[in-house]
Amino acid sequence: MSDTTSSMPPVSQRLANDDRMPRSSKLPPAPRYDFFGVVQGYLDAAAKLAGTPEHVRTILSQPKSEIIVHFPVRMDNGEVRLFKGYRIQHNDTLGPYKGGMRYHEDVSLDDVKALASVMTWKCALMGLPFGGAKGGVKFNPRSVSRAELSRVTRRFFHSLGGNIGPDYDIPAPDVGTNAQTMAWALDTYMNTVGVVSKQAVLGVVTGKPVSIGGTLGREKATGQGLVHCVRRWAELNKFDLQGKKLILQGYGNVGSNVALLLGQLGVSLVAVGDHTGYLVNPEGFNAYRLKQYVEKTGSIAGYPNGSAISREDFFSFQADLFVPAALENQVGPTEAEALQVRLVAEGANGPCSPEGEDVLKRRGIDILPDVLANAGGVTVSYYEWVQNRRSEQWTLEDVDDRLERAMLDAYARMEQYARNKHCDYRTACYAVALERLAKAYLDREIFP
Ligand code: NAD
Repeated sequence: MSDTTSSMPPVSQRLANDDRMPRSSKLPPAPRYDFFGVVQGYLDAAAKLAGTPEHVRTILSQPKSEIIVHFPVRMDNGEVRLFKGYRIQHNDTLGPYKGGMRYHEDVSLDDVKALASVMTWKCALMGLPFGGAKGGVKFNPRSVSRAELSRVTRRFFHSLGGNIGPDYDIPAPDVGTNAQTMAWALDTYMNTVGVVSKQAVLGVVTGKPVSIGGTLGREKATGQGLVHCVRRWAELNKFDLQGKKLILQGYGNVGSNVALLLGQLGVSLVAVGDHTGYLVNPEGFNAYRLKQYVEKTGSIAGYPNGSAISREDFFSFQADLFVPAALENQVGPTEAEALQVRLVAEGANGPCSPEGEDVLKRRGIDILPDVLANAGGVTVSYYEWVQNRRSEQWTLEDVDDRLERAMLDAYARMEQYARNKHCDYRTACYAVALERLAKAYLDREIFP
């Protein structure tokens, strides 16, 4: 392919193609996607299969706490802007609340509730001593300066105050946030607890830079965990990954690491998309160079070694694997009918709608569900938290080995449950998680 500087599809076309983007006033409003309702549906189906006691299912159907804060930030031009932040603490029966912080203009209470509950199932499935939480701030982090981003983060975490803590609720990066965000968050929290406790609270956030208590291997952990799952799926299905093709939506932390690591197994990235549009290169992108480009420019737009395609053409592009690694509700029935792949491995949380999933199943396309496939991030976050508590620094090899074992063990739990109970992998993941949670509720009983 020639090194053409491809232009993105026109903005109007991109917006019309994407339910998550603001629409022109001439278009009818997009139907709201009830993400929390969707996750509730998965919970109900799994609870029925696992024979979960009704009172446990009822407790788990709602978060324990829903925290909403409004906080002012002085912008670079001197104006004061009021921001809205969320922290939803779904469940802490198995350990402190744990989950990412999202900065995105579409952040809403219901979506964060759904994402928080997914964290509960994920931690339980992985056997981690954590519960589930999620949070975020409703704004576009690309629309502010670095200094403004720092002030938003610091005021947000300051507003949360004692609602987070290393033994209570431990945030991490998610969409629109990264290790730098966690560094600001940690610094803010440390400076509110008093000098004698400063070092004791290193574990208040995970996904920090290694220089301030982060762990080696966290940056790639979510992608790495997903690749372990894909490898195991390929072994079980006698599917040789060498020479196979990948299409990937989202080229941030999760997506870029998936592309790099699958590339090491001989899988080539042939089409990629992000919030600016979609690119194709039938001969394969250099995942490493594309990652460097995105880190420098903020998106795939204008990357020289690819041609622009529409969202529709991206979804129907002939490949073997599809990894959604952007946002929820990206694969509805239309996209599911269009996909020409054998496997969808969910890097993002909730990328397939239930209707999309039904179509994928009917067409014989396998799904590795989010609850397992992207659990590598929280698993290595747990390793980071343990290292902080013990004042240790593990080697990359140690982190990698532990993660591989944890992912393969969880894969085996899911696979065995699905085989025994004749259910799909998503239901199996939820059911395994529910069994662990139900046992804890039955042993502890309900207070008082
Ligand atoms: P990120 O901010 O690093 O990257 C997000 C990517 O999605 C970017 O490439 C962005 O351009 C793209 N994107 C945003 N809106 C889009 C749209 N409308 N259409 C197409 N692409 C769009 O975020 P991330 O940390 O890589 O997270 C991606 C997904 O993975 C999210 O669903 C997140 O919840 C999930 N996840 C992340 C982690 C983690 O450790 N970071 C762990 C588990 C799950």
